[in-house]
Amino acid sequence: MQTSRRHFLMLTVGVSSSLMLSRVALADTANTLSEADPKAQAVGYKEDASKVDKAKFPDYAAGQTCANCSLFQGKSTDAYGGCTLFGDKQVAARGWCSSYSNM
Ligand code: SF4
Repeated sequence: MQTSRRHFLMLTVGVSSSLMLSRVALADTANTLSEADPKAQAVGYKEDASKVDKAKFPDYAAGQTCANCSLFQGKSTDAYGGCTLFGDKQVAARGWCSSYSNM
């Protein structure tokens, strides 16, 4: 009986921890900028700068990413961070859009 109660408690703690981590992950995902967002499409935003259409955006240069854009609000080590263009939405550090600036 004692073992069963301990087992139940351990299982409950494990499930609760998993649910809390899932909620954090969902919250982060919900706050990231989608490439399908009309504002993102207007500036050709891509989550992966290597996927930028170079014919459509000839100003893009290899090595330009959100992480080294002057409008990026995150730290250089963050996978996602704010951008002054997109309010509370987070952009991918390895992303890019046509408003890129390094000034
Ligand atoms: S303005 Fe800069 S930080 Fe914002 S999405 Fe475009 S490239 Fe990324």
